[in-house]
Amino acid sequence: MADNGSCPFCKLDVRVLKENKLAQAFLSNPRKVPGHFLVIPKRHIEKPWELTKDELQDIFELIYFIEKRLVSKLGQGADIRQNYRPFINQGKMKVNHVLFHLYPRYNEDYLYQVSEKFEADLFTELDPSENEEFASLLADDKS
Ligand SMILES: [Zn+2]
Repeated sequence: MADNGSCPFCKLDVRVLKENKLAQAFLSNPRKVPGHFLVIPKRHIEKPWELTKDELQDIFELIYFIEKRLVSKLGQGADIRQNYRPFINQGKMKVNHVLFHLYPRYNEDYLYQVSEKFEADLFTELDPSENEEFASLLADDKS
């Protein structure tokens, strides 16, 4: 188990806006857009695949509860993201505690205007050899 003594999400000083037995949700600070939530397990976990089935269930119950509220009251859609980037040091922009981002989206919204409209060029046609490569990655029992 990693040292979580310095983990700000293990001793939250922010207002938890929704929680259940194993997970909690609060507004991200810093945030990308208004309504940018973070949903985390209450237990300190760094690798997403270490979440138990019960933790996953509680996390996604919160995510979908909030997503439904965001879409029905605020926006047209929502994004859910989980980044695993252990190569970035923990700091203001990165906390090692597993977290899921959830934020409302609108047609051609701020995120689209400042970032995503430039990402269209990143998409290229799938090379069939990639299917083989990744099929074998998933087939290998090396974990
Ligand atoms: Zn933590």
